[in-house]
Amino acid sequence: MVTFLSGGTGTPKLLDGAGAAFSPEETTIVANTGDDVELGGLFVSPDVDTLLFQGGGVLDRETWWGIEGDTHRTNAALADIASAAALSDGPQYLPEDRQTAGRELANWRRFSGIAEFMTIGDRDRAVHITRTSLLDRGKSLSEATQRLAGAFGLEVDLLPMSDDPVASLIHTDEGMMHFQEYWVARRGEPTVDTVEFRGSSTAEPAPGVLEAFEDTVVIGPSNPVTSIGPMLSLPGVADALAQTTVVAVSPFLGDETFSGPASDLMAAVNAEPSTRGLATAYPFADAFVIDDADGTEFDRPTIRTDIAMDTREDAARVVRAVEEAIDLVS
Ligand code: GDP
Repeated sequence: MVTFLSGGTGTPKLLDGAGAAFSPEETTIVANTGDDVELGGLFVSPDVDTLLFQGGGVLDRETWWGIEGDTHRTNAALADIASAAALSDGPQYLPEDRQTAGRELANWRRFSGIAEFMTIGDRDRAVHITRTSLLDRGKSLSEATQRLAGAFGLEVDLLPMSDDPVASLIHTDEGMMHFQEYWVARRGEPTVDTVEFRGSSTAEPAPGVLEAFEDTVVIGPSNPVTSIGPMLSLPGVADALAQTTVVAVSPFLGDETFSGPASDLMAAVNAEPSTRGLATAYPFADAFVIDDADGTEFDRPTIRTDIAMDTREDAARVVRAVEEAIDLVS
């Protein structure tokens, strides 16, 4: 049995090759939900969605979000209407008093749907409408995710990290903004002061998450701060990981990332923005998988391979390295 911790790009890439070592029936994936937002009343869970689409074989593999070949008619119409009505575009965080009014899961991450700043495809939107409607019928995010996973034909167990609100808020030199605004709308430009996971101290891991951490855990090459950090901020998670075998795959090539804002965010939380910084980000890791060309030395077993993943074969190669690392330390 193996449990992967995942954000929305690096670990889904790795999961493309998971079958090289692990059968889907023995695989659990715990997805970050700190990136989730309510957008025009729809609850969007970007990392869960990428994993649904990846597992269902419909993911757009150019972007690593959205459904391949999806249309964007509603998204375009929202921009047209906003423009015709002289309404401003860009992310519109709802007023402070609205942030905690409504379904609790969306606390501190509510955006107006005017001019919809995230590019939501039409089929993608059907997922958000279904999820939101299930939440409105009283289902938890875990239950809604399970139904959606069934719809996409997933054979693995996909769990959101929590059924409670945990919002990844980025405090910058231009003020506080949700991760989606910082990354999707602002392309990571503002200078980051600190990262806050609002709600995490009282949130609970979703049903099955702590149990899944009794199995061997693989931290995929996801952003240590905003993809894995929200999970680690949940009560009981770091302790559970300290007691199990954990292998982490580097999202860095030395001090370069493959994509995304991991370096700036690591620096903001006073972690070294490089492969070396993984030792402090993941003190409970028993072994690391890093790139052949990466000279980083750890005081823990380290397996080296080419960790760039452009194809399923690449992913399978990295998964086999993960298996080797697990065998070394378990
Ligand atoms: P997000 O939710 O979209 O931020 O995605 P993740 O946190 O899951 O993944 C982002 C991380 O994936 C970045 O830090 C990248 O460096 C890493 N990444 C992207 N492509 C690759 C790859 O081919 N190999 C490895 N090892 N890491 C990658």
